[in-house]
Amino acid sequence: MASLEYVDIGVNLTDGMYKGKYHGKKAHQPDLENVLHRAKNAGVVAQMVTAGSVSEVKQVLDLVKRYENDGLYATAGIHPTRTSGVGEGMKYLDDLKKFLDQESITRNPSGKIVAIGECGLDYDRLQFSDAETQKVHFPHHLQLAKEYKLPLFLHCRAAQEDFIAIIQKEADAIAEACANDATRNDPHKRRRIGVAHCHTGTVEEMQQLFAQGLFIGLTGCSFKEEEGIRVAKEVPLEYLMLETDAPWCDLRQTHASAPLLKRFVENNPDLAALYSPASVKKEKWEAEKQVKSRNEPCAIGNIAAVVAEAKGIDVSVVVKAARENTKFLFNI
Ligand SMILES: [Zn+2]
Repeated sequence: MASLEYVDIGVNLTDGMYKGKYHGKKAHQPDLENVLHRAKNAGVVAQMVTAGSVSEVKQVLDLVKRYENDGLYATAGIHPTRTSGVGEGMKYLDDLKKFLDQESITRNPSGKIVAIGECGLDYDRLQFSDAETQKVHFPHHLQLAKEYKLPLFLHCRAAQEDFIAIIQKEADAIAEACANDATRNDPHKRRRIGVAHCHTGTVEEMQQLFAQGLFIGLTGCSFKEEEGIRVAKEVPLEYLMLETDAPWCDLRQTHASAPLLKRFVENNPDLAALYSPASVKKEKWEAEKQVKSRNEPCAIGNIAAVVAEAKGIDVSVVVKAARENTKFLFNI
């Protein structure tokens, strides 16, 4: 059992790839249980399974309950790229509220929903939903955060300015709603309202997020370019969360992170074996092995490793800080 404890704040475990399906075509048998087993071996004690539509909230809740012993939690919201598909009127909000009434941890101590999201703005993929539509639905999620006293799990792509403008209007009110006795009188902690997941922006954009009371989540995608390594170096540990965004966002040899990860692997072969188990192509699937280029939550240690190498500090310091942040913000 690994001694470093991880909470992966962003995993997409309902994705077809964990049922062996790639682009609608079956390549191997379902293997989510193998994936969860490897995560446990790597020290992953909890995972937040993200939902991006009403029907996905239901699927995610079913899944987190089925694997109750694996420490799975859920988010509830509409992904910005799916906002054009919410249908007429505001019925989707009533649907989300039905789930939240039953399952938000703030309403029900054994509830599984720990955050509102994934929600936000995505101007990289306007073909799915135009900016105007996204800007209509994002603020509704901020209202849900207030009403249910839940932090936000946020997605922002190429939309920083509008994103900040919308958040800014409600940040104080959400902070006030989410504050508890432990944080109300702590000016540093009081304003924490959520996490901007999978940060792929600049150091300057990261600082604008902090100013709104947001943590940032880093994934393999965060370290594609050198700027991402700068982000890893500059992010204060008290604002950091770790995530894989599995099955997406795997760390690659072509990314700016590659030399840092290589150094970590050379110096920490035992941990590296847990975070990067052997992999095979999907056509040659084996229960004990990962599938090449399908990301898994066990790889979360590699994200911590890149941050640690970029900062020149021990990986355990990074992991401990991220763990405390998830405990504080999501209560897990
Ligand atoms: Zn996202």
